[in-house]
Amino acid sequence: MTVDALPSPVRPSSGARLAVYPGSFDPIHNGHVDIILRGARLFDRIVVAVSRNAEKAPLFSVEERIELMREVFRDQPNVEVEAFDGLLVDYARHKHASVIVRGLRAVSDFEFEFQMALMNRRLSPEIETVFMMPAERYTYTSSRLVKEVFSLGGVVNGLVPEAVEGRLREKRSGGQA
Ligand code: ADP
Repeated sequence: MTVDALPSPVRPSSGARLAVYPGSFDPIHNGHVDIILRGARLFDRIVVAVSRNAEKAPLFSVEERIELMREVFRDQPNVEVEAFDGLLVDYARHKHASVIVRGLRAVSDFEFEFQMALMNRRLSPEIETVFMMPAERYTYTSSRLVKEVFSLGGVVNGLVPEAVEGRLREKRSGGQA
């Protein structure tokens, strides 16, 4: 065949196939949960990696987001949650991950995701980005919209895990949402 030679994929010594799913998850919503559960079926382990670089004025601290996600996935032993900073590919390499998972909601996500995936490939050719689509009912869900709807008194039931809804209510009664 006449395709370019590809670098060998990264594998931890155990041989397990590990994927990293990065994002800000402020807060996690059911679109994220859908992608994580799909990833957990495809890969031996999936690490949900909360970026410390991302937002300037988050609603939930990185530690709160991690705590919430660990609660949501407490019955999924192959889903791990942790924070990372710096370059995603450096973090993925450090974890011995062979795959970066990203979710695609709509065509509007594509351009940004395409640029990121190709830049990450340039930085680290041995790591592949895999795109996954959520169930149709989550294609319009985003953390930004969830926060906005909730802060204006709208119902977010069914869009976020129950634990998140509870924490949003606590924030609101504390005057923060
Ligand atoms: P959000 O855009 O909701 O703030 P993040 O920036 O934390 O979420 O996104 C992390 C990853 O999750 C990205 O790959 C993003 O495209 C994906 N994602 C976000 N919302 C959804 C959704 N509703 N369905 C599928 N993937 C999603």
